[in-house]
Amino acid sequence: GVRVGILALQGDVREHDRLLAQLGAEVTTVRRPDELAAVDALVIPGGESTVIDRLAHLAGLREPLREAIAGGMPVLGTCAGLILLAERLQDGVPGQQTLGGLDVTVRRNAFGRQAESFETDLVVPALQGPPVRAAFIRAPLIEELGPSAELLAALPDGRAVAARQGRVLGLAFHPESTGETRFHALFLQLAQER
Ligand code: GLN
Repeated sequence: GVRVGILALQGDVREHDRLLAQLGAEVTTVRRPDELAAVDALVIPGGESTVIDRLAHLAGLREPLREAIAGGMPVLGTCAGLILLAERLQDGVPGQQTLGGLDVTVRRNAFGRQAESFETDLVVPALQGPPVRAAFIRAPLIEELGPSAELLAALPDGRAVAARQGRVLGLAFHPESTGETRFHALFLQLAQER
């Protein structure tokens, strides 16, 4: 079967773990390069992208992660995970780096203080069934999609909140905290196809 890793440096690792196990995946945590080398696909959870980036640097994981993603490893990034997948970042802290893999410009904390958290329904044409109930928690926004990325979901006002490039999926919101399983199922399907 497919071995799915969750980057477990900081953030909501447990929610993804539970959801993926519920979908029948074999799940392990990834904190070191040798653990990354042992998985076929990776989830980068929500949390704080500046902290995850710094801990990835300390763990010697930045380059192995970049190489794995560039090499075609299926990746699902949510919220901070989307930030880490962005090729271009706005409103990062000094020295903050991203891993790339998704040809988008992402702005951190784009919804400001007054709207730090909200839930909304999103129409996601790539998924069958009802709209996605999505939780935005100090969420980033996709300011611009480059030619290699395709839009997966937008807010009703048109602002982009999810994108895909090949086997890389990036979501500004948290599907795992509202019981939404279809993005994880799509991710597992991409991992199995590989
Ligand atoms: N604001 C966080 C960051 O910059 C992301 C928030 C989240 O992952 N829920 O990484």
